[in-house]
Amino acid sequence: MPNIFAKIVSGEIPADVVYKDDQVTAFRDVQPAAPVHILIVPNKTIGGVEDLERSDETLAGHMLLVAQGLARQEGVADDGYRLIINSGAHGGQEIEHLHLHLLGGRPLGPMILRR
Ligand code: AMP
Repeated sequence: MPNIFAKIVSGEIPADVVYKDDQVTAFRDVQPAAPVHILIVPNKTIGGVEDLERSDETLAGHMLLVAQGLARQEGVADDGYRLIINSGAHGGQEIEHLHLHLLGGRPLGPMILRR
């Protein structure tokens, strides 16, 4: 069964898509954690980082460069931003379709809460 991000890629369900090419789709997070919160996902379904294969190397690098371009486009590159990929249960991954979070537009604080 296609996951929700696969459905966004195919256009089956709507999203605020800010960028699309033959490899990736980028859209605004429905529950933004910062003024800029964009998700960059591969068009093909890859469950997460643990499912990446050697043949995905170009795609994985492309996701980073698309994030860089979007950060500049959104006007957050100069002040800085954060890229996050959650992986698995302890990583807090909710949706099993690889996605790179681009967050910016305010100081984001420490990377994780220290306990
Ligand atoms: P993660 O916890 O890394 O799996 O992140 C999943 C993210 O997907 C969360 O930040 C959600 O707010 C976001 N999300 C869930 N459903 C949608 C949707 N339909 N459109 C945009 N973002 C979504």
